[in-house]
Amino acid sequence: METISQDVLAGAYLIASVSYILGLKMLGKPDTARRGNTIAAIGMTIAIFATIFLYSENGNPVGNKIFIFVALIIGTGIGVRAARTVQMTQMPEMVSLFNGMGGLCAALIGIIEIYHTQSTEKTKLLAICAGLVIGTISFSGSMIAWGKLTGRFSDKIFPMQQFLNLGLMTIILVMAGAIIFSPIVNPVMLYMELLLCVGYGILFVLPIGGADMPVVISLLNSFTGVAAACAGFLYNNMAMLTGGILVGSAGTILTILMCKAMNRSLTNVLIGAFKASGPKEVESDSGGHIKEVSLSDAAVMMSYAKKVMIVPGYGLAVAQAQHSCHELEKALEEKGVEVRYAIHPVAGRMPGHMNVLLAEADVSYSKLLEMDEANSEFATTDVVMILGANDVVNPAAKNNKLSPIYGMPILEVDHAHAVIVNKRSMNAGYAGIKNELFYEPQTSMLFGDAKKVLQQLVSEIKAN
Ligand code: NDP
Repeated sequence: METISQDVLAGAYLIASVSYILGLKMLGKPDTARRGNTIAAIGMTIAIFATIFLYSENGNPVGNKIFIFVALIIGTGIGVRAARTVQMTQMPEMVSLFNGMGGLCAALIGIIEIYHTQSTEKTKLLAICAGLVIGTISFSGSMIAWGKLTGRFSDKIFPMQQFLNLGLMTIILVMAGAIIFSPIVNPVMLYMELLLCVGYGILFVLPIGGADMPVVISLLNSFTGVAAACAGFLYNNMAMLTGGILVGSAGTILTILMCKAMNRSLTNVLIGAFKASGPKEVESDSGGHIKEVSLSDAAVMMSYAKKVMIVPGYGLAVAQAQHSCHELEKALEEKGVEVRYAIHPVAGRMPGHMNVLLAEADVSYSKLLEMDEANSEFATTDVVMILGANDVVNPAAKNNKLSPIYGMPILEVDHAHAVIVNKRSMNAGYAGIKNELFYEPQTSMLFGDAKKVLQQLVSEIKAN
């Protein structure tokens, strides 16, 4: 009987693992993403219930089932409510918060299991310490990322930041070694280690400046995956191991891609050497004037253009203007205008934010151009329409060495014949810096909420 239930359990884990892989694959395309998410969630549910009812150790089944179910019900309730009520613009914060919770779980597993492990089981102790360290850093780092995304914390740069981070990391590693090789678990040392990891997570994310947050967010995501994989290894739980490895590797690949896109090195991220907003903005006041354009003039400019490139940014998400944006695209195409979207990898507040947003409005993927492709097309573009984007088109990233976004590749919209910028005011974007593009001779400002402006533009274009 015992063998049969263990075989069924192994089968359940196999189904769960396959569902994660399938789910992840399906998440790659907007039209299959929803189904992929459901498949992976079903797999996870199978793994959880199979563990509760079939897992046994030395013939003892899982105890405390009442507590487990109470926790499951509370957790599910919170998760469902959060997912149903979250605004699209608050998604990045929610992802950070949930990611932090994953890290905390992995760390808690480590704290519990370390007392059940013999000092001779070095590989197990190594997995425990790795999960504990990585999980705790991911937890405290994600909390800081959450605070920064919600505007609760601002970037804080402090003296000797890199050395402090490097020193702290060295102490954490040495103490982890001491825990693994000591004959008994020393609680003082264990909690000291946890405290240092919490501190490292905070110090490592706190100074991260404007343009570099996306890299850190994906890095923290991969940390949580690795911490979960360590827990899976510890329990010899294939479903947990596969899930952790998938999250860890997907997060790592995303981090590397983000680093490339942002022109940053991974080592710099790890020791928190990114430039924070530091000597806050060098207000290289151009002394220039901004030029405003009226709705009807903007509509005429676009209607008579051959090619229009739309640059969506965080403001488009704030205004929930993705559907109106699609309407603009259709209205222009009816006039024979070629319309494309230029997507910057860090536009918005989470990796892939703009793709998700536009996919929700049924914008065809074939019309979305990645940064390099878009940059090669701006010279032949008649009108660039910037909708709530700011940092991703800021020339300071190329021209101003003291700028917190210096070195980040941008959408080179100034190569186009005309640029229309829609935003509500002259306020700065996430990096908190001024944008010289707004003062360029070919740029015109079209102030107002993106959704309202787009709706009016569509009416004007149709009436033309
Ligand atoms: P920005 O944050 O630079 O700018 C957004 C602009 O939108 C603001 O200047 C704001 O100006 C305008 N805006 C806000 N609400 C509206 C509205 N209702 N209608 C019209 N405009 C509006 O956005 P970008 O997308 O250009 O850049 C993203 C920034 O976020 C980068 O610095 C990136 O590093 C950072 N980031 C990205 C993450 C990611 O993973 N993608 C994660 C964390 C940070 P105004 O108030 O005047 O309207």
